[in-house]
Amino acid sequence: MAYMITSDCICCQACEWECPNQAISERISQYVIDPARCTECLGESGSPHCADICPVNACQPDPENHESLEQLLAKARSLHSRKRTVHVSA
Ligand code: SF4
Repeated sequence: MAYMITSDCICCQACEWECPNQAISERISQYVIDPARCTECLGESGSPHCADICPVNACQPDPENHESLEQLLAKARSLHSRKRTVHVSA
C-alpha cells in the first residue's frame, strides 16, 4: 500500500529529498504523498525511505490505498522503465 503523511508532520522537508519516485510534495503547508507514485520503495535498498528518515514518525502506511506486491512491482517498473530495471528478491 502507498504511504501517507499524517498531521504529525512538522514540514521539515527531509522526506521529500529521500523519495526515489518524486512522490512527495508540499501542498499549502502540508506535505503529501501521491499514491500513484508511491511504491513503498520497492526495488530500492532497505525499507520505505520517508518513514526511515521522518523525525516524528509521520510517514505511515495508508489504509485507504491497499495494493498487492504485484501491483506495487508493476508501478515501480512503470515509473523506472526508462531508467533501470527493478529487481525484487523473495
Ligand atoms: Fe516515496 Fe518510498 Fe515514501 Fe513511497 S515509501 S513516498 S516511494 S519514499
